[in-house]
Amino acid sequence: MNGSRRQSHGTGGGTVPAVRLREVTKRYGKGPRAVLALDRVSADIARTTFTAVMGPSGSGKSTLLHCAAGLDRPTSGSVRLASTELAQLKEAPLTRLRRRSVGFVFQSFNLMPSLTVEQNITLPLRLRGRRADPAWLGEIVSRVGLADRLSHMPAQLSGGQQQRTAIARALVNRPEVIFADEPTGSLDPETAADILGLLRQAVTDMDQTVVMVTHDPVAAAHADLAVFLASGRIVSDMASPTAGRVASTLAGLRGAA
Ligand code: ADP
Repeated sequence: MNGSRRQSHGTGGGTVPAVRLREVTKRYGKGPRAVLALDRVSADIARTTFTAVMGPSGSGKSTLLHCAAGLDRPTSGSVRLASTELAQLKEAPLTRLRRRSVGFVFQSFNLMPSLTVEQNITLPLRLRGRRADPAWLGEIVSRVGLADRLSHMPAQLSGGQQQRTAIARALVNRPEVIFADEPTGSLDPETAADILGLLRQAVTDMDQTVVMVTHDPVAAAHADLAVFLASGRIVSDMASPTAGRVASTLAGLRGAA
């Protein structure tokens, strides 16, 4: 993800980004109590990259993720996902595009408690009226290490296994981009490293594009690029982030806030 003045990052110039934001503004409420959550954010998320979105609490990270994923509509500006301008889509086509082109991984896993692991993983396909290709399903299940858990219920799984299920569910549609919102926020450090390794593999081995909101510098260090938000604006980015450099940048932003 880059500021608008630069060309696409990492995958060579000229390719269409997975997500393109231009002058995206999101205002909550009206009048003197209105909150400007995003203030003219422009960025490209290059394909097959892993981006961490960071910033102090209230800086606009979740709002950015929701607008980029088509879960929420900006007040103004343009969001293009898979070369489609979201602003022009009515609700039903927007939902179809999201189901086809976006995978989600949440902090709280968000699995359906009454469905088995396999049914949870294939749910995005069933919502599109499709069946799972057994070879593809077999590949993602083995990559996330759940082959012997397919008939389990979510309540029978550890937190790490639940998040592995959620990652498999995010991959099943071969989406344009996977958005992860604090995916390791409920996990112990060892399990978190495991989950971040899987997201990394999705990019490196499966040509996926991952955008992850996190407050954790250690998590951000798994990404190719860290993007920093403050007061609704992208204020800097960092290629090949390390936990130490990310932590000191965040400390500076908190100090300035
Ligand atoms: P972050 O994810 O970085 O903590 P958010 O995107 O959640 O930040 O919030 C950005 C700003 O927008 C904050 O000031 C927050 O209070 C405000 N905000 C977020 N969602 C809403 C909402 N639904 N209604 C009103 N204000 C909101």
